[in-house]
Amino acid sequence: MPVLSTIEAKCKDCYKCLRACPVKAIRFRAGDGTSDGSPLAGRALHAEVVEERCILDGACLRVCPQGAKRVRPDVGRVKGWLESGEKVVASVAPSFAAAFPEEPLKVVGAVRSLGFAAVEQTAVGAELVAEAVREECRAVSSGSCRRPVLPVITTACPVVVNLMEMVYPDTLRHASAVVSPMVAHGRALKRAHPGARVVFIGPCVAKKHEAEREEVTGAVDAVLTFVELWDWLADEGVSLAEAEPSDFDGYRPETAPLFPVEGGMLRTASLPSDLVSGEWLALSGMDDCREFLAALSGGGGLPEELRGVRLVEMLACRGGCVAGPVMPDDGSTPAVRRQRLLRFVETRRRGTGGGAGGGRVLPEPAGERVRGRPRLEPADLTRTYRDRRPELKMPTEKEVREILARVGKTKPEDELDCGVCGYPSCREKAIATYQGMAESDMCMPYMREMAESMSHLVVAASPYGMVVVNAGLDIIEANQAFRKMFGLGEEADLAGRRLSDIIDDTLFRKAFEERTVTETEVSYPERGLLTQQTIFHLGKRDAVVGIFIDLTPAARQREEFERLRDETVERAREVIAKQMSVAQEIAGLLGETSAETKVILTKLIDLMKKGEVGALDRPSGRRGRDADRERAGGGGSGAGAEALDGTKGGL
Ligand code: SF4
Ligand code: SF4
Repeated sequence: MPVLSTIEAKCKDCYKCLRACPVKAIRFRAGDGTSDGSPLAGRALHAEVVEERCILDGACLRVCPQGAKRVRPDVGRVKGWLESGEKVVASVAPSFAAAFPEEPLKVVGAVRSLGFAAVEQTAVGAELVAEAVREECRAVSSGSCRRPVLPVITTACPVVVNLMEMVYPDTLRHASAVVSPMVAHGRALKRAHPGARVVFIGPCVAKKHEAEREEVTGAVDAVLTFVELWDWLADEGVSLAEAEPSDFDGYRPETAPLFPVEGGMLRTASLPSDLVSGEWLALSGMDDCREFLAALSGGGGLPEELRGVRLVEMLACRGGCVAGPVMPDDGSTPAVRRQRLLRFVETRRRGTGGGAGGGRVLPEPAGERVRGRPRLEPADLTRTYRDRRPELKMPTEKEVREILARVGKTKPEDELDCGVCGYPSCREKAIATYQGMAESDMCMPYMREMAESMSHLVVAASPYGMVVVNAGLDIIEANQAFRKMFGLGEEADLAGRRLSDIIDDTLFRKAFEERTVTETEVSYPERGLLTQQTIFHLGKRDAVVGIFIDLTPAARQREEFERLRDETVERAREVIAKQMSVAQEIAGLLGETSAETKVILTKLIDLMKKGEVGALDRPSGRRGRDADRERAGGGGSGAGAEALDGTKGGL
């Protein structure tokens, strides 16, 4: 897990971390599945700490208003070692006295109560380092040592080392070859407590990375921040206010506890009297450190006034480690913290306890607790550096221009260099875009312009009439459709005209007074216009908007439909009536013929019943032939023939 990362869900794309980041190590990229390259897609970007570029100064951690930056927690590992019975020794950074509002020795007691086998102070390592640097500087000045070169840069701060290695690697030849106090103390503790784990507790994010570096590996097993310690104590129910005061184990250094303030190393190395000579320089704060390194790195060299400097002490946090980025937030300012530390050092020097209220005399740590000064070989205090400058592809001028053009910057005056995106200039942001660190549309003026022009386009092209009025019911803006509805010329400037000159403004007045939304149909007979109106107040902008939908065509359509419907119904009625009369006539005729048929058939049935038509019972073929034969022979029943004839005649 990286030492520093972003909690994506918490990040709100405000670019504040990027603006604060001195080396622009934060990449903004679109969240999954939302990027379509369109500035109007509403995609979310997320800040991402790029490890290969990050110098771990924690500036982003300090400024993020959402608490979206996370420092890797290492308490779990340390607890695991303690629970499994391993011997674990704590090395507490000298800034501890500045970090907590309680009496410093209560903090030592509280740390001890967590189960550490020994609680020692990193200031022991600081004293060793200060002496080694003094010797190194002497050797360099006398010419007996050719590396580093003057001015020698010494620092206990891993952020400064990161800055030199990643941004100004050509200044590494000035870097003191002496390790930091944390590493020196870690090595000493490993020697004094064979097989023990060493845990450094301090105010710095970058120490977590330093402890894992190949060049110093094995000195420190884990790094906890003071915030982690604070939370751990709270989890264990240990109250600092009620903790039993306890002194550090091991050797007690004199001046090294001042290491965490600007100039503390020079003082520990007994160089302060030379400060007036201008040979020693103490710098703190990212800006001062960068300025010096940039001058040292650039072709122009140091300004005349700095040319006599032989030793430079640098700390990345302004004022020193007392202003570190991971101090418990008890509302104290760096100045207050510095005073706490100075008071502690002073009371220790006078032999009192070092409490915030002046302290009380503690009994001298007895027996084994003071073992005297740790012995370290000179080789144990040396280290090396690496050029870790990230490989960055640079765009050509043509490519820069193309990227700038994507956000409408085609002329020099379009480059506003406003810095809102987090980069100091439009050009630098274009280069970052080319290098995959930024998205081209991370440009606030461009996005605003796009949003405005799009909203204007949408309003202008809307088929609905729109008008905005101020509290005085004067028109602020009206679109083309509104002008057309109320017969206002295209050229006429409506801004400032009273709305009541054009339409009844009662509903607009009501919207101002009652802050309600009104939806109603209003007709303007003189214009042959029927409208659907939605009128509402704009809240903070104290304006009222009216949206007018022209219902006239729909109303006309409805009328036409109703006319057609009535006509159709009338025609249908007529047709039905006609049909009815024809049907009645047909029914009358059918009735008559049916009656006649009935009479004849009844007669026929009667005749058959009387047997006068027996011949009719025979098959019709024979009956025909017999009848023909009878007719031809003149024989047969004459009555039958007559009857048939009679029937026929009847039919
Ligand atoms: S400061 Fe950075 S991490 Fe925090 S919300 Fe803003 S963009 Fe996201
Ligand atoms: S820790 Fe510093 S260098 Fe790293 S991303 Fe944050 S501000 Fe940038």
